[in-house]
Amino acid sequence: MSINRERLKQHLEELAEIGKIGETGVCRLAHSKEDRQAVEIVKGWMEDAGLTARIDGFGNLIGRLEGSEPELPILILGSHIDSQPYGGRFDGTAGALGAIEVVHSMKENGITPARTIEVICFSDEEGSRFNKGIFGVRGLAGMIEEGELERKDKQGMTRREALKEFGVEPDLSKSPVYQKGDIAAFLELHIEQGPVLENVNKPVGIVSGISGPIWLTVTLEGFAGHAGSVPMKMRQDALLGASDIITKFDRLVKTEGTDTTVGTVGSMQVFPNSRNIIAEKVEFTVDLRDIDLEARTRLEEKLYKIIEESAAEYKLKVDIKEDTRSEPRYCADWIKAIMKEEDGKLGLDSPTLMSGPFHDALIMSYISDYGMIFVRCEKGISHNPLEFAEMDDIEKGVQLLYKTALRIAQG
Ligand SMILES: [Zn+2]
Repeated sequence: MSINRERLKQHLEELAEIGKIGETGVCRLAHSKEDRQAVEIVKGWMEDAGLTARIDGFGNLIGRLEGSEPELPILILGSHIDSQPYGGRFDGTAGALGAIEVVHSMKENGITPARTIEVICFSDEEGSRFNKGIFGVRGLAGMIEEGELERKDKQGMTRREALKEFGVEPDLSKSPVYQKGDIAAFLELHIEQGPVLENVNKPVGIVSGISGPIWLTVTLEGFAGHAGSVPMKMRQDALLGASDIITKFDRLVKTEGTDTTVGTVGSMQVFPNSRNIIAEKVEFTVDLRDIDLEARTRLEEKLYKIIEESAAEYKLKVDIKEDTRSEPRYCADWIKAIMKEEDGKLGLDSPTLMSGPFHDALIMSYISDYGMIFVRCEKGISHNPLEFAEMDDIEKGVQLLYKTALRIAQG
């Protein structure tokens, strides 16, 4: 009994056509026209698989298959189908379409699960458009924050407006949707987005946990002036302050971080952004994460010190806004044990590894036990059109997802 590799491959290829950029990239921003188009086509595949599908007020696509023992806590499978603005074909989609394939295969193999199964394509996992992600899953878990629907994208459109354009009306009084105890387990398959599996030459990995990210937005404010006339000593150059902080932050993480600490500044806005004006205001993001919470806290404190010192040195006003803070979340031992067993039967000999990136599973972990499966991706490249995973590897990962889901679904 195995999954249908050809059908899965075809679905992956078809979905990659929506929002396609270049030969291999995709751009399906959360709540966009392309996102809606993707949701519609995937909804059809859910229905083919025997699921009853609907789109909720947060933009989540939810398919449901009633189990023969509906009083049992349910099994949820899923991931996301939105993408980064310059993203790849496999991030999220491998797990979302893999989950649908699992249910479709059960149906074809004549299996009625004891537990009810839901497959979810969570809305706005990526967080690129509104600078805050894992939105849909937070809606389900009751973790939407005050004022979040009023967050704006770069065009000035609020999340609420974007969702309306997408075709749904968010209702925060309906959040959380699930209570503790409603869900027996959540399973997510995802491409690794890192180089570990390739390094050890294994197609699939069993995840031990997700390291927690801190996201900050740092704003530095100096004073604009003519690049030709203000003497160097009199300047309050915000861009210079930012460069100083970014370089020192990188050095800090490299020299004082653990093996699992990573720190990144990936986005910056310069005002007024002109070649002959000294930068008055610079805003940049900080992403700091580690599975080791103590190590992360230690580095975070030092980062604040760096920011303070650099701001003082360049005579800048500073403001630090915290966008996200989550602690490391560990996969459930009992789910890992089932995965290990099934993995052995499939002869995969999959290693156990950590997840640096966060996933929808991070939020699901607050309302359910969870397990994750990683699939090897080429050179660990992700959030990039060059992202690539072999169909052979995806098939093996989804096969393990299938076997694990079967075990859990039978109660
Ligand atoms: Zn993803």
